[in-house]
Amino acid sequence: MGNFKHIAIQYLQLLKYSGIDYIFFSSPILAKMNGKYKNCQKCILANTRTNIVYGEGNENADLMLIGEAPGQDEDIIGRPFVGNAGQLLNKMLKAINIKREQVYITNIVKCRPPNNRNPLPTEINACLPYLYEQIEIIKPKIILALGLVSANTLLKTNLSLGELRKNIYNFKGIKLMVTYHPAALLYHPTWKKSAWIDLQKLQKEYEALKKK
Ligand code: SF4
Repeated sequence: MGNFKHIAIQYLQLLKYSGIDYIFFSSPILAKMNGKYKNCQKCILANTRTNIVYGEGNENADLMLIGEAPGQDEDIIGRPFVGNAGQLLNKMLKAINIKREQVYITNIVKCRPPNNRNPLPTEINACLPYLYEQIEIIKPKIILALGLVSANTLLKTNLSLGELRKNIYNFKGIKLMVTYHPAALLYHPTWKKSAWIDLQKLQKEYEALKKK
């Protein structure tokens, strides 16, 4: 299994270095943005990253998922949520009948912080304009913030995840919901029960969009 993953990562890297970016982006606009920012040097994370992880998914997505920052696998491949946390995220979406291809996925910061530490405020501030631009392009109807850093950054709060999960917020006219980061669920499997409650709430909101 480990060997297969290694070969798959090498293959995806090869495609990326060959300039075959389009399989990762359903949108030419977003692929162009990724190209435009791939040499970004606006913060110190540029010194240690392998690849910028801009984001990927459906340009017409009603649902946008926003995590914290790329991890090791994501840094190597240049795509968001491809490691173990990504596998869990795919399962979480599948459990509420949402395909990954239907959504857009990105992070608060686009480059991996060393040793997966939390991004610093200066790094977040440097990178946020890219996220706001993505939100402008995609115009999602629902944003799901994955984890504390994502939620507190978007809402400009300093609350606990328990507090944040209680409400549905209005973020620039978009419904914003909060749940656990999948990486946190891998470390704390007992939190999955609460995450399931959040996902069911999300499913209700997402399916209500179809009736409008
Ligand atoms: S984290 Fe964002 S601002 Fe910092 S170098 Fe990467 S893309 Fe640029």
